[in-house]
Amino acid sequence: MTEYDVIVIGAGAAGLMCAAQAGQRGRRVLVVDHAKKPGRKILISGGGRCNFTNYDVTASNFLCENPHFVKSALAQYSQWDFIGLVATHGVAYHERDHGQLFCDDSAKDIVNLLLAECDQATISQRYRCEVHDIEQEEAGFRLKLNGEPVRCQSLVVATGGLSMPKLGATPFGYQLAEQFGLKVLPTRAALVPYTLHQEDKTRFADISGVSVPCSITTESGVCFTENLLFTHRGLSGPAVLQTSSFWQPGEAVTIDLLPSESLKDVLVAMRDKHPNQTLKTSLSRLFPKRLVEVLIARDSLPDKPLKQLDDKQLDQLHHYFHQWSIAPNGTEGYRTAEVTLGGVDTHAISSKTLEARDIPGLYFIGEVLDVTGWLGGYNFQWAWSSGWVAGQHV
Ligand SMILES: Cc1cc2nc3c(=O)[nH]c(=O)nc-3n(C[C@H](O)[C@H](O)[C@H](O)COP(=O)(O)OP(=O)(O)OC[C@H]3O[C@@H](n4cnc5c(N)ncnc54)[C@H](O)[C@@H]3O)c2cc1C
Repeated sequence: MTEYDVIVIGAGAAGLMCAAQAGQRGRRVLVVDHAKKPGRKILISGGGRCNFTNYDVTASNFLCENPHFVKSALAQYSQWDFIGLVATHGVAYHERDHGQLFCDDSAKDIVNLLLAECDQATISQRYRCEVHDIEQEEAGFRLKLNGEPVRCQSLVVATGGLSMPKLGATPFGYQLAEQFGLKVLPTRAALVPYTLHQEDKTRFADISGVSVPCSITTESGVCFTENLLFTHRGLSGPAVLQTSSFWQPGEAVTIDLLPSESLKDVLVAMRDKHPNQTLKTSLSRLFPKRLVEVLIARDSLPDKPLKQLDDKQLDQLHHYFHQWSIAPNGTEGYRTAEVTLGGVDTHAISSKTLEARDIPGLYFIGEVLDVTGWLGGYNFQWAWSSGWVAGQHV
């Protein structure tokens, strides 16, 4: 029977990072994946340019039942370490809003970087490989790869979350955790667009493609100021994706369509200067015209000359645009979600090594764990940090 020091299941971001590190320590590593090739999510990430990390990464950028869990790995292998690795490989990158770092050319550069790091005599890779019959032995694990029995001392589960099943996402990691008696916290799609109730969907269909800066606040009080994008299915854009991780089914979200100014002040100033200007014309100076038309029709806003609007109506308009409330029907689910909330409960995992506390040699890294980053490169940073840390211990 072939024996390895380490078998990593999942050749995604976390698995390849872990394999590279373990291999560099001289461990004999096998990376297996049921997909045809490695890093498929990396390739499509960040619109094909992979938002691979962020200049500003702290534990507060992550959702996890145990909020301190991510601290150790992020400190052991930080964004600066990964940025250094990117520079070593000569990958050109640039910063966008909020410290997000993207490749200049292609996300392929990141996959190539990881494969170059894994290009060592100690590491082999197998694709189109199904993993079955995992059993714990006295000094490690025995499993079957496409029916062939193999052994390893350390087994690393890097099979990711459930988002984008078309790209090979499976619940394998959760099932394995449960097989070993570990708790798996309920999962749901996150960083995902909202769908709308039929009436709103029809109304907003006409403004599909319109994007506005705004602040969106969930019922739990979490607020993100970013762009909102109307689509033919519902609401998307970074503000929506960010809040979707905090939104619960049935809740409404409150949208401030003019977060940096007071609408009442602006309308009063306009009324003083152009008293005969209609509300529609006035609002169209602040928001996309097509959005104004839809809102006026949807909510019967008083489209009169400004001089005919009294203080009460101005207050109502102010409230409407600063606290526009809409109840999503749901989300687009795993089909388009970037990540999965929930997963393997971190309470049973060592934050310092990523090893299951009660199962020596079994490691969980990356998105399969109950660790979900905000939009902005945080999910990849978690994959790099957790993969690197496990790679030092397997
Ligand atoms: C469209 C999209 C865009 C994204 N953009 C960004 C971004 O720009 N920045 C960012 O930080 N995050 C982004 N993310 C999130 C990021 O891709 C993930 O958080 C990250 O890839 C998780 O890494 P991972 O290694 O844990 O899992 P993955 O990268 O998903 O890798 C898991 C691997 O396990 C394999 N696998 C699954 N089941 C099995 C099985 N049963 N047997 C064998 N192998 C299996 C899969 O084929 C896959 O190769 C994006 C996600 C999506 C879907």
